[in-house]
Amino acid sequence: MTSFANKLLNKEEVTDTLATYKCDRCSECQDTFFIQMKIQNMDKFICSYMCSKDMHLDYGKDYWSTVVNLEDFQHLTPIQNIKQSKEKFSVEYDPIDSDRNEFVQSLIEEDERVEKLIEGFNNESSSDSE
Ligand SMILES: [Zn+2]
Repeated sequence: MTSFANKLLNKEEVTDTLATYKCDRCSECQDTFFIQMKIQNMDKFICSYMCSKDMHLDYGKDYWSTVVNLEDFQHLTPIQNIKQSKEKFSVEYDPIDSDRNEFVQSLIEEDERVEKLIEGFNNESSSDSE
């Protein structure tokens, strides 16, 4: 007889015996990795180019020094270029890109709307108790 729990356990054993590499950024398990790092004696894997973008956000700007398979990348990415695109994620008005400004504005408005909803909800629930 196989219980559901046993099935789960069995499944776990199977995935454990396969050589998979859990991506440290998206937590997907792959049987290959794109980048291997050794941070504080722990092996960390990055599954793909997509996940390797902006790694300095998670690992600091010197993360290349922890990459084990560095030779795989020296011909792809000149190491001196890592510090670029720092401001990529800052949400600010762009004097040229009006579409983006509209998008940012809509985000701000949505934030305000939600805030008001929460405020209204809080007021209602507090007047209930009076
Ligand atoms: Zn990944």
